[in-house]
Amino acid sequence: MAHWVFRKFSRKLSLMVGVILVCAMALTDLLLTRALRRQFIDEVASNLLVQADLIEMQLRSKTFSKKAGGELQSMAKQYDRTCDCRVTFVSKDGAVLADSSLTTDEIIRMENHKGRPEISTALAGSPGHSIRYSETIRQDMLYAATPLRLNGTVHGVVRVAMSLAQVEQKIAGVRKTIATITIFMILAAILASLWMSRSISQPLAEMSRIAEKLAQGDYSARVRPRLPDEHGQLGATLNLLAQKVQSAIHALSQEKAHLSAILSNMTEAVIAVDETGHVLAVNPALTRLFGIQPQECVGKPFLEVIRNNRLSALLNIVIKDSTRQQDEVKVLAPEEAVFEAQAVPLLMEERCIGALLVLHDITRLRQLEQIRKDFVANVSHEIKTPLASIKAFAETLRTGAIDDPANRKEFVEIIEKDADRMMRLVDDLLELSSIESGRRAPNFEPVALAECAMAVAASLAPLADRKQVRVDIRIPDNLPLLRADNGQLRQVLTNLLDNAIKFNKDEGSVTVKASANQRIVTVVVQDTGSGITAENLPRIFERFYRVDKARSCELGGTGLGLAIVKHIIDAHGGSVGVESKPGQGSTFRFTLPTAA
Ligand code: ADP
Repeated sequence: MAHWVFRKFSRKLSLMVGVILVCAMALTDLLLTRALRRQFIDEVASNLLVQADLIEMQLRSKTFSKKAGGELQSMAKQYDRTCDCRVTFVSKDGAVLADSSLTTDEIIRMENHKGRPEISTALAGSPGHSIRYSETIRQDMLYAATPLRLNGTVHGVVRVAMSLAQVEQKIAGVRKTIATITIFMILAAILASLWMSRSISQPLAEMSRIAEKLAQGDYSARVRPRLPDEHGQLGATLNLLAQKVQSAIHALSQEKAHLSAILSNMTEAVIAVDETGHVLAVNPALTRLFGIQPQECVGKPFLEVIRNNRLSALLNIVIKDSTRQQDEVKVLAPEEAVFEAQAVPLLMEERCIGALLVLHDITRLRQLEQIRKDFVANVSHEIKTPLASIKAFAETLRTGAIDDPANRKEFVEIIEKDADRMMRLVDDLLELSSIESGRRAPNFEPVALAECAMAVAASLAPLADRKQVRVDIRIPDNLPLLRADNGQLRQVLTNLLDNAIKFNKDEGSVTVKASANQRIVTVVVQDTGSGITAENLPRIFERFYRVDKARSCELGGTGLGLAIVKHIIDAHGGSVGVESKPGQGSTFRFTLPTAA
Protein backbone atom coordinates (compact mmCIF):
# COMPACT_ATOMS: atom_id res chain seq x y z
CA MET A 1 0.00 0.00 0.00
CA ALA A 2 2.76 2.41 1.06
CA HIS A 3 4.61 1.52 -2.13
CA TRP A 4 1.50 2.26 -4.20
CA VAL A 5 1.04 5.66 -2.51
CA PHE A 6 4.66 6.76 -2.68
CA ARG A 7 5.10 5.79 -6.32
CA LYS A 8 3.23 8.86 -7.54
CA PHE A 9 3.89 12.44 -6.62
CA SER A 10 0.16 13.34 -6.82
CA ARG A 11 -0.76 10.63 -4.32
CA LYS A 12 2.00 11.70 -1.97
CA LEU A 13 0.93 15.33 -2.13
CA SER A 14 -2.76 14.51 -1.60
CA LEU A 15 -1.93 12.28 1.34
CA MET A 16 0.24 15.01 2.85
CA VAL A 17 -2.42 17.67 2.37
CA GLY A 18 -5.04 15.32 3.85
CA VAL A 19 -2.91 14.55 6.90
CA ILE A 20 -2.07 18.24 7.47
CA LEU A 21 -5.72 19.21 7.15
CA VAL A 22 -6.88 16.46 9.50
CA CYS A 23 -4.27 17.52 12.08
CA ALA A 24 -5.19 21.21 11.68
CA MET A 25 -8.85 20.45 12.00
CA ALA A 26 -8.31 18.22 15.06
CA LEU A 27 -6.34 21.01 16.73
CA THR A 28 -8.98 23.59 15.79
CA ASP A 29 -11.69 21.28 17.12
CA LEU A 30 -9.83 20.87 20.40
CA LEU A 31 -9.19 24.59 20.90
CA LEU A 32 -12.60 25.65 19.62
CA THR A 33 -14.45 23.13 21.79
CA ARG A 34 -12.57 24.40 24.84
CA ALA A 35 -13.24 28.05 24.03
CA LEU A 36 -16.87 27.35 23.20
CA ARG A 37 -17.39 25.38 26.39
CA ARG A 38 -15.87 28.23 28.41
CA GLN A 39 -18.03 30.78 26.62
CA PHE A 40 -21.20 28.70 26.87
CA ILE A 41 -20.62 28.03 30.55
CA ASP A 42 -20.01 31.75 31.21
CA GLU A 43 -23.15 32.59 29.27
CA VAL A 44 -25.27 29.91 30.96
CA ALA A 45 -23.83 30.89 34.36
CA SER A 46 -24.79 34.59 33.88
CA ASN A 47 -28.25 33.53 32.65
CA LEU A 48 -28.66 31.29 35.66
CA LEU A 49 -27.59 34.16 37.93
CA VAL A 50 -30.11 36.50 36.24
CA GLN A 51 -32.82 33.90 36.83
CA ALA A 52 -31.64 33.42 40.42
CA ASP A 53 -31.79 37.23 40.91
CA LEU A 54 -35.33 37.37 39.48
CA ILE A 55 -36.47 34.52 41.77
CA GLU A 56 -34.73 36.21 44.69
CA MET A 57 -36.61 39.47 43.97
CA GLN A 58 -39.91 37.60 44.05
CA LEU A 59 -39.00 35.74 47.22
CA ARG A 60 -37.93 38.72 49.32
CA SER A 61 -41.32 38.96 51.08
CA LYS A 62 -41.39 35.20 51.79
CA THR A 63 -40.38 33.70 55.05
CA PHE A 64 -37.27 31.69 54.37
CA SER A 65 -37.44 29.03 57.02
CA LYS A 66 -38.22 25.34 57.36
CA LYS A 67 -41.71 26.21 58.31
CA ALA A 68 -42.45 27.57 54.90
CA GLY A 69 -40.82 24.49 53.33
CA GLY A 70 -43.97 23.21 51.60
CA GLU A 71 -44.74 26.49 49.94
CA LEU A 72 -41.13 27.01 48.96
CA GLN A 73 -41.02 23.51 47.48
CA SER A 74 -44.03 24.17 45.24
CA MET A 75 -42.59 27.52 44.21
CA ALA A 76 -39.30 25.85 43.37
CA LYS A 77 -41.16 23.32 41.18
CA GLN A 78 -43.04 26.13 39.52
CA TYR A 79 -39.83 28.08 38.74
CA ASP A 80 -38.29 24.84 37.49
CA ARG A 81 -41.11 24.43 34.99
CA THR A 82 -40.85 28.07 33.89
CA CYS A 83 -37.06 28.27 33.59
CA ASP A 84 -36.36 24.61 32.81
CA CYS A 85 -33.77 24.64 35.60
CA ARG A 86 -33.29 22.96 38.91
CA VAL A 87 -34.15 25.45 41.61
CA THR A 88 -32.91 25.08 45.18
CA PHE A 89 -33.60 27.26 48.22
CA VAL A 90 -31.10 27.16 51.06
CA SER A 91 -31.49 28.77 54.50
CA LYS A 92 -28.83 31.04 55.87
CA ASP A 93 -27.44 28.15 57.96
CA GLY A 94 -26.99 26.03 54.83
CA ALA A 95 -30.00 23.73 55.21
CA VAL A 96 -31.81 22.83 51.98
CA LEU A 97 -35.37 24.23 52.23
CA ALA A 98 -36.65 23.26 48.80
CA ASP A 99 -35.32 21.60 45.63
CA SER A 100 -37.32 21.29 42.42
CA SER A 101 -35.70 17.99 41.47
CA LEU A 102 -36.22 16.30 44.86
CA THR A 103 -39.20 15.11 46.85
CA THR A 104 -39.90 16.49 50.33
CA ASP A 105 -38.52 13.32 51.92
CA GLU A 106 -35.36 13.53 49.93
CA ILE A 107 -34.99 17.19 50.95
CA ILE A 108 -35.15 16.25 54.61
CA ARG A 109 -32.36 13.72 54.07
CA MET A 110 -30.19 16.23 52.18
CA GLU A 111 -26.98 17.18 53.89
CA ASN A 112 -26.13 20.75 54.77
CA HIS A 113 -25.11 22.80 51.72
CA LYS A 114 -23.11 25.42 53.55
CA GLY A 115 -19.85 23.96 52.23
CA ARG A 116 -20.86 24.04 48.58
CA PRO A 117 -18.65 26.69 46.87
CA GLU A 118 -21.48 28.68 45.23
CA ILE A 119 -23.59 28.54 48.47
CA SER A 120 -20.72 29.71 50.67
CA THR A 121 -19.99 32.60 48.23
CA ALA A 122 -23.68 33.60 48.20
CA LEU A 123 -23.95 33.36 52.01
CA ALA A 124 -20.95 35.66 52.14
CA GLY A 125 -23.07 38.18 50.18
CA SER A 126 -21.92 37.76 46.56
CA PRO A 127 -23.40 35.75 43.71
CA GLY A 128 -21.32 32.70 42.84
CA HIS A 129 -21.27 29.74 40.53
CA SER A 130 -19.55 26.40 40.26
CA ILE A 131 -19.51 23.20 38.20
CA ARG A 132 -19.79 19.92 39.96
CA TYR A 133 -20.96 16.39 39.56
CA SER A 134 -24.23 16.05 41.30
CA GLU A 135 -24.52 12.80 43.18
CA THR A 136 -28.19 13.59 43.57
CA ILE A 137 -29.09 13.59 39.91
CA ARG A 138 -25.85 11.98 38.73
CA GLN A 139 -24.83 14.58 36.12
CA ASP A 140 -22.31 17.42 35.74
CA MET A 141 -24.20 20.46 36.87
CA LEU A 142 -23.63 24.20 36.67
CA TYR A 143 -24.74 25.85 39.83
CA ALA A 144 -25.41 29.64 40.20
CA ALA A 145 -26.37 31.02 43.60
CA THR A 146 -27.41 34.49 44.73
CA PRO A 147 -28.00 35.69 48.31
CA LEU A 148 -31.58 36.41 49.39
CA ARG A 149 -31.47 39.75 51.18
CA LEU A 150 -34.04 41.23 53.47
CA ASN A 151 -33.37 44.68 54.78
CA GLY A 152 -29.77 44.36 53.73
CA THR A 153 -29.01 41.07 55.51
CA VAL A 154 -28.64 37.64 53.92
CA HIS A 155 -31.57 35.36 54.83
CA GLY A 156 -30.84 32.54 52.56
CA VAL A 157 -29.67 31.53 49.11
CA VAL A 158 -31.50 31.01 45.85
CA ARG A 159 -29.67 28.50 43.68
CA VAL A 160 -30.47 27.74 40.09
CA ALA A 161 -28.73 24.77 38.40
CA MET A 162 -28.62 23.41 34.96
CA SER A 163 -27.26 20.12 33.61
CA LEU A 164 -24.10 20.57 31.56
CA ALA A 165 -25.48 17.97 29.17
CA GLN A 166 -27.33 20.80 27.47
CA VAL A 167 -24.08 22.75 27.06
CA GLU A 168 -22.41 19.62 25.70
CA GLN A 169 -25.33 19.18 23.33
CA LYS A 170 -24.84 22.70 21.99
CA ILE A 171 -21.08 22.16 21.65
CA ALA A 172 -21.72 18.83 19.91
CA GLY A 173 -24.03 20.66 17.47
CA VAL A 174 -21.31 23.20 16.66
CA ARG A 175 -18.69 20.45 16.37
CA LYS A 176 -20.91 18.50 14.02
CA THR A 177 -21.20 21.51 11.75
CA ILE A 178 -17.45 22.07 11.93
CA ALA A 179 -16.80 18.35 11.23
CA THR A 180 -19.08 18.43 8.17
CA ILE A 181 -17.35 21.56 6.85
CA THR A 182 -13.96 19.99 7.65
CA ILE A 183 -14.74 16.79 5.71
CA PHE A 184 -15.87 18.85 2.72
CA MET A 185 -12.77 21.02 2.99
CA ILE A 186 -10.47 18.00 3.25
CA LEU A 187 -12.13 16.43 0.21
CA ALA A 188 -11.89 19.71 -1.68
CA ALA A 189 -8.24 20.14 -0.63
CA ILE A 190 -7.39 16.56 -1.66
CA LEU A 191 -9.07 17.07 -5.03
CA ALA A 192 -7.32 20.42 -5.48
CA SER A 193 -3.96 18.94 -4.52
CA LEU A 194 -4.56 15.98 -6.85
CA TRP A 195 -5.33 18.36 -9.68
CA MET A 196 -2.37 20.56 -8.83
CA SER A 197 0.05 17.73 -8.40
CA ARG A 198 -1.16 16.21 -11.67
CA SER A 199 -0.52 19.48 -13.41
CA ILE A 200 3.01 19.36 -11.96
CA SER A 201 3.71 15.67 -12.33
CA GLN A 202 2.22 15.12 -15.79
CA PRO A 203 4.69 17.38 -17.61
CA LEU A 204 7.46 15.91 -15.44
CA ALA A 205 6.34 12.39 -16.38
CA GLU A 206 6.33 13.36 -20.06
CA MET A 207 9.80 14.86 -19.74
CA SER A 208 11.01 11.76 -17.92
CA ARG A 209 9.61 9.61 -20.78
CA ILE A 210 11.42 11.78 -23.32
CA ALA A 211 14.67 11.64 -21.30
CA GLU A 212 14.33 7.84 -21.20
CA LYS A 213 13.89 7.73 -25.00
CA LEU A 214 16.96 9.94 -25.42
CA ALA A 215 18.90 7.62 -23.11
CA GLN A 216 17.82 4.68 -25.32
CA GLY A 217 19.22 6.46 -28.38
CA ASP A 218 16.05 7.94 -29.90
CA TYR A 219 17.44 11.44 -30.38
CA SER A 220 14.43 12.62 -32.39
CA ALA A 221 12.19 12.55 -29.27
CA ARG A 222 10.98 16.03 -28.23
CA VAL A 223 8.85 17.46 -25.40
CA ARG A 224 5.57 19.11 -26.54
CA PRO A 225 5.80 22.91 -26.35
CA ARG A 226 4.12 24.35 -23.22
CA LEU A 227 3.40 27.67 -21.58
CA PRO A 228 6.57 29.55 -20.70
CA ASP A 229 6.40 28.56 -17.01
CA GLU A 230 9.03 26.50 -15.15
CA HIS A 231 7.84 23.32 -16.87
CA GLY A 232 7.87 25.01 -20.25
CA GLN A 233 11.41 26.24 -19.64
CA LEU A 234 12.55 22.82 -18.48
CA GLY A 235 10.94 21.22 -21.56
CA ALA A 236 12.56 23.76 -23.88
CA THR A 237 15.95 23.13 -22.24
CA LEU A 238 15.47 19.37 -22.61
CA ASN A 239 14.55 19.84 -26.29
CA LEU A 240 17.61 22.02 -26.83
CA LEU A 241 19.77 19.40 -25.14
CA ALA A 242 18.23 16.65 -27.30
CA GLN A 243 18.77 18.72 -30.43
CA LYS A 244 22.41 19.37 -29.53
CA VAL A 245 23.01 15.71 -28.69
CA GLN A 246 21.30 14.70 -31.95
CA SER A 247 23.42 17.02 -34.07
CA ALA A 248 26.57 15.99 -32.17
CA ILE A 249 25.73 12.30 -32.70
CA HIS A 250 24.90 13.00 -36.36
CA ALA A 251 28.22 14.80 -36.84
CA LEU A 252 30.06 11.99 -35.04
CA SER A 253 28.36 9.24 -37.03
CA GLN A 254 29.04 11.09 -40.26
CA GLU A 255 32.66 11.48 -39.27
CA LYS A 256 32.74 7.79 -38.34
CA ALA A 257 31.11 6.86 -41.66
CA HIS A 258 33.68 8.94 -43.56
CA LEU A 259 36.48 7.40 -41.57
CA SER A 260 35.22 3.87 -42.05
CA ALA A 261 34.63 4.56 -45.79
CA ILE A 262 38.21 5.78 -46.06
CA LEU A 263 39.52 2.80 -44.08
CA SER A 264 37.35 0.35 -46.04
CA ASN A 265 38.46 1.68 -49.39
CA MET A 266 42.11 1.89 -48.54
CA THR A 267 44.27 -0.60 -50.38
CA GLU A 268 46.72 -0.46 -47.50
CA ALA A 269 46.08 -2.76 -44.55
CA VAL A 270 45.43 -0.80 -41.35
CA ILE A 271 45.40 -2.07 -37.78
CA ALA A 272 45.06 -0.05 -34.57
CA VAL A 273 46.19 -1.37 -31.17
CA ASP A 274 45.81 0.02 -27.66
CA GLU A 275 48.74 0.74 -25.33
CA THR A 276 48.73 -2.88 -24.14
CA GLY A 277 49.04 -4.14 -27.72
CA HIS A 278 45.47 -5.41 -28.03
CA VAL A 279 43.74 -4.86 -31.36
CA LEU A 280 41.23 -1.98 -31.43
CA ALA A 281 40.23 -2.00 -35.09
CA VAL A 282 41.22 -3.41 -38.46
CA ASN A 283 40.21 -2.49 -42.01
CA PRO A 284 38.89 -4.88 -44.70
CA ALA A 285 42.19 -4.75 -46.61
CA LEU A 286 43.96 -6.23 -43.59
CA THR A 287 41.41 -9.01 -43.05
CA ARG A 288 41.59 -9.81 -46.78
CA LEU A 289 45.37 -9.86 -46.85
CA PHE A 290 45.76 -12.06 -43.78
CA GLY A 291 42.63 -14.16 -44.41
CA ILE A 292 41.02 -13.41 -41.05
CA GLN A 293 37.56 -12.38 -39.85
CA PRO A 294 37.22 -8.84 -38.40
CA GLN A 295 35.38 -10.17 -35.33
CA GLU A 296 38.27 -12.55 -34.66
CA CYS A 297 40.73 -9.66 -34.32
CA VAL A 298 39.23 -7.01 -32.07
CA GLY A 299 40.32 -7.32 -28.45
CA LYS A 300 43.01 -9.91 -29.17
CA PRO A 301 46.77 -9.42 -28.66
CA PHE A 302 48.45 -8.23 -31.88
CA LEU A 303 50.65 -11.32 -32.17
CA GLU A 304 47.60 -13.58 -32.12
CA VAL A 305 46.20 -11.75 -35.15
CA ILE A 306 49.42 -11.22 -37.12
CA ARG A 307 52.14 -13.66 -36.15
CA ASN A 308 55.07 -11.46 -37.00
CA ASN A 309 57.60 -10.57 -34.33
CA ARG A 310 59.13 -7.68 -36.28
CA LEU A 311 55.79 -5.91 -36.66
CA SER A 312 55.01 -6.54 -32.99
CA ALA A 313 58.41 -5.14 -31.96
CA LEU A 314 57.84 -2.13 -34.23
CA LEU A 315 54.53 -1.38 -32.48
CA ASN A 316 56.11 -1.81 -29.06
CA ILE A 317 58.76 0.80 -29.89
CA VAL A 318 56.08 3.21 -31.18
CA ILE A 319 54.00 2.81 -27.99
CA LYS A 320 57.06 3.07 -25.73
CA ASP A 321 58.74 6.05 -27.41
CA SER A 322 55.66 7.75 -28.95
CA THR A 323 57.60 8.09 -32.20
CA ARG A 324 56.72 6.99 -35.72
CA GLN A 325 58.60 4.02 -37.10
CA GLN A 326 59.09 2.53 -40.54
CA ASP A 327 60.37 -0.83 -41.68
CA GLU A 328 60.23 -3.28 -44.56
CA VAL A 329 58.83 -6.56 -43.32
CA LYS A 330 58.50 -9.94 -44.97
CA VAL A 331 55.42 -11.93 -43.93
CA LEU A 332 55.35 -15.67 -44.65
CA ALA A 333 51.70 -16.53 -43.87
CA PRO A 334 49.09 -16.84 -45.32
CA GLU A 335 51.20 -16.03 -48.41
CA GLU A 336 54.71 -14.76 -48.71
CA ALA A 337 54.49 -10.99 -49.03
CA VAL A 338 56.66 -7.92 -48.48
CA PHE A 339 55.19 -4.89 -46.69
CA GLU A 340 56.38 -1.40 -46.10
CA ALA A 341 55.19 -0.91 -42.51
CA GLN A 342 54.50 2.58 -41.17
CA ALA A 343 53.58 2.78 -37.49
CA VAL A 344 52.48 5.97 -35.75
CA PRO A 345 51.54 6.58 -32.12
CA LEU A 346 47.88 7.33 -31.30
CA LEU A 347 48.09 10.38 -29.04
CA MET A 348 45.36 11.75 -26.80
CA GLU A 349 46.22 14.88 -24.82
CA GLU A 350 49.93 14.22 -25.32
CA ARG A 351 49.52 10.68 -23.94
CA CYS A 352 50.14 7.64 -26.12
CA ILE A 353 47.00 5.49 -26.01
CA GLY A 354 48.04 3.04 -28.73
CA ALA A 355 49.50 2.78 -32.20
CA LEU A 356 48.33 2.66 -35.79
CA LEU A 357 50.06 0.35 -38.24
CA VAL A 358 49.70 0.81 -42.00
CA LEU A 359 50.99 -1.99 -44.20
CA HIS A 360 51.66 -1.13 -47.81
CA ASP A 361 51.97 -4.26 -49.94
CA ILE A 362 55.15 -3.87 -51.98
CA THR A 363 55.40 -7.53 -52.94
CA ARG A 364 54.64 -6.76 -56.61
CA LEU A 365 57.09 -3.87 -56.60
CA ARG A 366 59.84 -6.08 -55.22
CA GLN A 367 58.89 -8.83 -57.70
CA LEU A 368 59.08 -6.34 -60.56
CA GLU A 369 62.42 -5.14 -59.30
CA GLN A 370 63.62 -8.74 -59.24
CA ILE A 371 62.20 -9.34 -62.73
CA ARG A 372 63.97 -6.25 -63.96
CA LYS A 373 67.25 -7.39 -62.41
CA ASP A 374 66.80 -10.90 -63.84
CA PHE A 375 65.86 -9.41 -67.20
CA VAL A 376 68.98 -7.26 -67.37
CA ALA A 377 71.08 -10.25 -66.32
CA ASN A 378 69.36 -12.49 -68.90
CA VAL A 379 69.68 -9.99 -71.74
CA SER A 380 73.34 -9.35 -70.90
CA HIS A 381 73.93 -13.07 -70.76
CA GLU A 382 72.10 -13.69 -74.08
CA ILE A 383 74.02 -10.95 -75.84
CA LYS A 384 77.34 -11.79 -74.27
CA THR A 385 77.71 -15.20 -75.98
CA PRO A 386 77.25 -14.09 -79.65
CA LEU A 387 79.13 -10.87 -78.93
CA ALA A 388 82.09 -12.78 -77.49
CA SER A 389 81.98 -15.07 -80.52
CA ILE A 390 81.88 -12.13 -82.97
CA LYS A 391 84.76 -10.44 -81.13
CA ALA A 392 86.84 -13.66 -81.10
CA PHE A 393 86.36 -14.34 -84.82
CA ALA A 394 86.92 -10.71 -85.76
CA GLU A 395 90.17 -10.78 -83.77
CA THR A 396 91.18 -14.04 -85.40
CA LEU A 397 90.56 -12.49 -88.82
CA ARG A 398 92.46 -9.31 -87.87
CA THR A 399 95.46 -11.25 -86.60
CA GLY A 400 95.97 -13.19 -89.84
CA ALA A 401 93.03 -15.43 -90.61
CA ILE A 402 91.76 -12.81 -93.04
CA ASP A 403 94.51 -13.99 -95.41
CA ASP A 404 93.59 -17.63 -94.93
CA PRO A 405 91.26 -18.36 -97.82
CA ALA A 406 90.37 -21.79 -96.40
CA ASN A 407 88.85 -20.45 -93.15
CA ARG A 408 87.96 -16.79 -93.56
CA LYS A 409 84.66 -17.46 -95.29
CA GLU A 410 83.60 -19.77 -92.49
CA PHE A 411 84.66 -17.21 -89.84
CA VAL A 412 82.73 -14.44 -91.53
CA GLU A 413 79.68 -16.73 -91.77
CA ILE A 414 79.93 -17.43 -88.02
CA ILE A 415 80.14 -13.70 -87.36
CA GLU A 416 77.11 -13.16 -89.57
CA LYS A 417 75.17 -15.97 -87.84
CA ASP A 418 75.92 -14.54 -84.40
CA ALA A 419 74.99 -11.06 -85.58
CA ASP A 420 71.70 -12.50 -86.93
CA ARG A 421 71.08 -14.13 -83.58
CA MET A 422 71.66 -10.79 -81.85
CA MET A 423 69.38 -9.12 -84.34
CA ARG A 424 66.62 -11.65 -83.67
CA LEU A 425 67.13 -11.19 -79.96
CA VAL A 426 66.89 -7.43 -80.22
CA ASP A 427 63.85 -7.72 -82.52
CA ASP A 428 62.10 -10.05 -80.09
CA LEU A 429 62.98 -7.81 -77.15
CA LEU A 430 61.65 -4.74 -78.96
CA GLU A 431 58.51 -6.65 -79.90
CA LEU A 432 57.97 -7.80 -76.35
CA SER A 433 58.64 -4.40 -74.85
CA SER A 434 56.30 -2.64 -77.28
CA ILE A 435 53.49 -5.10 -76.51
CA GLU A 436 54.16 -4.92 -72.76
CA SER A 437 54.28 -1.13 -72.65
CA GLY A 438 51.02 -0.93 -74.60
CA ARG A 439 52.64 1.05 -77.37
CA ARG A 440 51.54 -1.66 -79.76
CA ALA A 441 47.94 -1.97 -78.71
CA PRO A 442 46.15 -4.53 -80.94
CA ASN A 443 44.43 -3.04 -83.96
CA PHE A 444 41.30 -5.17 -83.81
CA GLU A 445 39.68 -6.29 -87.04
CA PRO A 446 37.77 -9.37 -88.24
CA VAL A 447 40.38 -11.95 -89.17
CA ALA A 448 39.93 -15.28 -90.93
CA LEU A 449 42.03 -17.79 -88.95
CA ALA A 450 42.37 -20.29 -91.80
CA GLU A 451 43.85 -17.68 -94.14
CA CYS A 452 46.27 -16.46 -91.50
CA ALA A 453 47.38 -19.99 -90.55
CA MET A 454 47.89 -20.92 -94.25
CA ALA A 455 50.09 -17.88 -94.78
CA VAL A 456 52.19 -18.69 -91.71
CA ALA A 457 52.52 -22.34 -92.74
CA ALA A 458 53.64 -21.22 -96.21
CA SER A 459 56.29 -18.92 -94.73
CA LEU A 460 57.58 -21.75 -92.57
CA ALA A 461 57.48 -24.35 -95.40
CA PRO A 462 61.27 -24.27 -96.01
CA LEU A 463 61.89 -25.06 -92.32
CA ALA A 464 59.27 -27.80 -92.36
CA ASP A 465 60.65 -29.24 -95.54
CA ARG A 466 64.12 -29.37 -94.10
CA LYS A 467 62.86 -31.55 -91.28
CA GLN A 468 60.30 -33.26 -93.47
CA VAL A 469 57.59 -32.23 -91.04
CA ARG A 470 54.01 -32.22 -92.35
CA VAL A 471 51.98 -29.15 -91.42
CA ASP A 472 48.26 -29.86 -91.43
CA ILE A 473 45.78 -26.95 -91.22
CA ARG A 474 42.37 -28.34 -90.22
CA ILE A 475 40.24 -25.32 -89.71
CA PRO A 476 36.48 -25.66 -90.32
CA ASP A 477 35.10 -23.49 -93.12
CA ASN A 478 32.27 -22.19 -90.96
CA LEU A 479 34.59 -20.96 -88.20
CA PRO A 480 33.56 -17.41 -87.31
CA LEU A 481 35.93 -14.53 -87.98
CA LEU A 482 38.18 -13.62 -85.07
CA ARG A 483 38.39 -10.24 -83.41
CA ALA A 484 42.17 -9.81 -83.56
CA ASP A 485 45.15 -7.83 -84.80
CA ASN A 486 46.08 -9.65 -88.00
CA GLY A 487 49.82 -8.97 -87.65
CA GLN A 488 49.89 -10.05 -84.00
CA LEU A 489 47.88 -13.21 -84.72
CA ARG A 490 50.37 -14.07 -87.43
CA GLN A 491 53.18 -13.56 -84.93
CA VAL A 492 51.46 -15.94 -82.45
CA LEU A 493 50.95 -18.64 -85.05
CA THR A 494 54.50 -18.17 -86.41
CA ASN A 495 56.04 -18.59 -82.95
CA LEU A 496 53.91 -21.65 -82.13
CA LEU A 497 54.36 -23.34 -85.52
CA ASP A 498 58.06 -22.47 -85.57
CA ASN A 499 58.49 -24.23 -82.20
CA ALA A 500 56.24 -27.11 -83.24
CA ILE A 501 58.44 -27.71 -86.32
CA LYS A 502 61.75 -26.93 -84.61
CA PHE A 503 61.20 -29.25 -81.64
CA ASN A 504 59.53 -31.96 -83.75
CA LYS A 505 61.08 -35.22 -84.78
CA ASP A 506 62.10 -35.68 -88.42
CA GLU A 507 59.11 -36.64 -90.54
CA GLY A 508 56.84 -35.61 -87.73
CA SER A 509 53.64 -33.64 -88.11
CA VAL A 510 52.07 -30.41 -86.90
CA THR A 511 48.28 -29.97 -86.81
CA VAL A 512 46.46 -26.66 -86.45
CA LYS A 513 42.82 -27.07 -85.36
CA ALA A 514 40.12 -24.66 -84.23
CA SER A 515 36.63 -24.80 -82.77
CA ALA A 516 34.09 -22.17 -81.71
CA ASN A 517 32.03 -22.24 -78.56
CA GLN A 518 29.68 -19.34 -77.77
CA ARG A 519 31.73 -16.35 -78.97
CA ILE A 520 35.10 -17.90 -78.17
CA VAL A 521 37.36 -19.66 -80.63
CA THR A 522 39.91 -22.15 -79.33
CA VAL A 523 42.97 -22.68 -81.55
CA VAL A 524 45.12 -25.77 -81.06
CA VAL A 525 48.66 -26.32 -82.35
CA GLN A 526 49.60 -29.95 -81.90
CA ASP A 527 52.95 -31.53 -82.68
CA THR A 528 54.59 -34.93 -82.54
CA GLY A 529 57.84 -33.62 -81.09
CA SER A 530 59.90 -34.32 -78.00
CA GLY A 531 57.31 -32.90 -75.59
CA ILE A 532 58.00 -30.97 -72.39
CA THR A 533 58.48 -32.45 -68.91
CA ALA A 534 55.91 -31.60 -66.19
CA GLU A 535 58.36 -29.53 -64.11
CA ASN A 536 59.18 -27.31 -67.13
CA LEU A 537 55.60 -26.82 -68.26
CA PRO A 538 54.61 -24.03 -65.80
CA ARG A 539 57.65 -21.93 -66.72
CA ILE A 540 57.52 -22.33 -70.46
CA PHE A 541 55.95 -18.89 -71.05
CA GLU A 542 58.59 -17.03 -68.98
CA ARG A 543 61.05 -14.84 -70.79
CA PHE A 544 64.34 -16.54 -71.71
CA TYR A 545 63.14 -19.84 -70.30
CA ARG A 546 64.29 -22.74 -72.36
CA VAL A 547 64.19 -26.41 -71.55
CA ASP A 548 67.35 -27.12 -73.42
CA LYS A 549 69.25 -23.90 -73.90
CA ALA A 550 71.97 -25.29 -76.13
CA ARG A 551 69.43 -26.89 -78.45
CA SER A 552 67.31 -23.75 -78.54
CA CYS A 553 70.37 -21.62 -79.43
CA GLU A 554 71.40 -24.09 -82.03
CA LEU A 555 67.95 -23.86 -83.55
CA GLY A 556 68.18 -20.05 -83.50
CA GLY A 557 65.79 -19.56 -80.57
CA THR A 558 65.87 -16.55 -78.29
CA GLY A 559 63.68 -17.94 -75.45
CA LEU A 560 61.24 -15.08 -76.02
CA GLY A 561 58.83 -16.67 -78.52
CA LEU A 562 56.29 -18.04 -76.05
CA ALA A 563 56.54 -14.92 -73.83
CA ILE A 564 55.52 -12.87 -76.88
CA VAL A 565 52.65 -15.32 -77.58
CA LYS A 566 51.36 -14.97 -74.01
CA HIS A 567 51.54 -11.17 -74.06
CA ILE A 568 49.70 -10.92 -77.40
CA ILE A 569 46.94 -13.32 -76.33
CA ASP A 570 46.55 -11.48 -72.99
CA ALA A 571 46.24 -8.16 -74.87
CA HIS A 572 43.47 -9.77 -76.96
CA GLY A 573 41.57 -10.82 -73.85
CA GLY A 574 42.21 -14.52 -74.44
CA SER A 575 44.09 -17.22 -72.57
CA VAL A 576 46.93 -19.53 -73.47
CA GLY A 577 47.90 -22.98 -72.17
CA VAL A 578 49.93 -26.08 -72.93
CA GLU A 579 49.64 -29.81 -72.39
CA SER A 580 52.49 -32.13 -73.05
CA LYS A 581 53.84 -35.57 -72.39
CA PRO A 582 57.57 -36.11 -73.01
CA GLY A 583 58.07 -38.19 -76.10
CA GLN A 584 54.47 -37.81 -77.20
CA GLY A 585 54.47 -34.24 -78.46
CA SER A 586 52.93 -31.02 -77.16
CA THR A 587 49.58 -29.33 -77.56
CA PHE A 588 49.48 -25.54 -77.32
CA ARG A 589 46.04 -23.94 -77.22
CA PHE A 590 44.88 -20.36 -77.07
CA THR A 591 41.51 -18.66 -77.14
CA LEU A 592 40.36 -15.51 -78.93
CA PRO A 593 36.98 -13.78 -79.13
CA THR A 594 34.93 -13.91 -82.31
CA ALA A 595 34.41 -10.74 -84.31
CA ALA A 596 30.59 -10.65 -84.15
P1 ADP B 1 62.72 -20.49 -78.21
O1 ADP B 1 63.24 -19.29 -78.86
O2 ADP B 1 63.76 -21.24 -77.45
O3 ADP B 1 61.89 -21.31 -79.07
P2 ADP B 1 60.25 -20.10 -76.86
O4 ADP B 1 59.84 -19.11 -75.84
O5 ADP B 1 59.53 -20.13 -78.11
O6 ADP B 1 61.79 -19.91 -77.03
O7 ADP B 1 60.19 -21.53 -76.18
C1 ADP B 1 60.74 -21.72 -74.94
C2 ADP B 1 61.14 -23.16 -74.76
O8 ADP B 1 60.01 -24.00 -74.71
C3 ADP B 1 61.93 -23.72 -75.89
O9 ADP B 1 63.32 -23.46 -75.73
C4 ADP B 1 61.66 -25.20 -75.77
O10 ADP B 1 62.51 -25.78 -74.85
C5 ADP B 1 60.24 -25.25 -75.26
N1 ADP B 1 59.24 -25.44 -76.32
C6 ADP B 1 58.50 -24.54 -76.94
N2 ADP B 1 57.66 -25.09 -77.82
C7 ADP B 1 57.90 -26.42 -77.79
C8 ADP B 1 57.36 -27.55 -78.48
N3 ADP B 1 56.43 -27.44 -79.42
N4 ADP B 1 57.86 -28.78 -78.16
C9 ADP B 1 58.82 -28.92 -77.24
N5 ADP B 1 59.36 -27.89 -76.54
C10 ADP B 1 58.91 -26.66 -76.82
